[in-house]
Amino acid sequence: MARSSASNIRLESSAAETYAAVRAAQLAGESVGLVPTMGALHEGHLSLVDASLAECDRTVVSVFVNPTQFGPGEDLASYPLVLEQDLRLLEERGCWLVFAPQAGEMYKPGHGTYVDVGSVATLYEGACRPTHFRGVATVVLKLLQIIPADRAYFGRKDYQQTLVIRKMVSDLNLPVEVRVSPIVREADGLAMSSRNAYLSESERQQGCLLWQSLKLAEKMYSEGETEVAAITKAMKERLASTEVEYIAFAAEGTMDEVTSIEGPTVVALAARVGKTRLIDNHTIG
Ligand code: AMP
Repeated sequence: MARSSASNIRLESSAAETYAAVRAAQLAGESVGLVPTMGALHEGHLSLVDASLAECDRTVVSVFVNPTQFGPGEDLASYPLVLEQDLRLLEERGCWLVFAPQAGEMYKPGHGTYVDVGSVATLYEGACRPTHFRGVATVVLKLLQIIPADRAYFGRKDYQQTLVIRKMVSDLNLPVEVRVSPIVREADGLAMSSRNAYLSESERQQGCLLWQSLKLAEKMYSEGETEVAAITKAMKERLASTEVEYIAFAAEGTMDEVTSIEGPTVVALAARVGKTRLIDNHTIG
């Protein structure tokens, strides 16, 4: 076990020691919640920590920038790393243990096993980032082996990711309850993201257009428009100064595309602002 220099929180980088600590707590009758993150924590992450603290005796946060979920040319090398700051925030919040492994602890040389959850991972985010969800599912399964938590906490910000995780948990009979928390936003509506740190002042303004376009979709629907084509067109106009990758309308709880809004519908989108790729979603109907 290690203590960070800036805080007293329990910091582990060894999978074996982390597993032993988690099992000892569980054998002593304590429930354990896991919040998987890539660090550079903000209030969105901390809302998941709070959800775990409210339900579980002990909360573990993993901080690991998982290389297998980044594609070639993505921002793996520049992803923000601020572990000491993260540890301070987690200690203040009341987290018990932080698992922050090196890449070599998670992926030994010759690693060759990956989790493929099928069609829910192939559309939208999966189409734009073809190996992304394979990497996410694989690392979350590995984290759940190392930290066999009673509950695991994810954010609605990554809507499609929550479907991928639920599918894996169901298909592989994983003994964990999946919890999903709402999106936490900045005052101007921008969904909190570690990647927002990349944005310049003017890009930050453009970033707000994602939320504005989702609110526009909601307004059009509330005024009687149900056709996805018409709403998409208006959203694209609102997003004209960004580079839209996709706008998806899917029945709530699925990635099944709809062409008209007839019930609760998730509107999910990805757009580039400068070099930064942002995602957001909102449910209407
Ligand atoms: P990341 O560090 O980006 O991999 O995110 C770790 C977890 O935090 C994921 O389950 C995300 O969905 C969740 N998360 C990230 N941003 C937010 C946000 N703004 N609101 C709620 N959850 C979030």
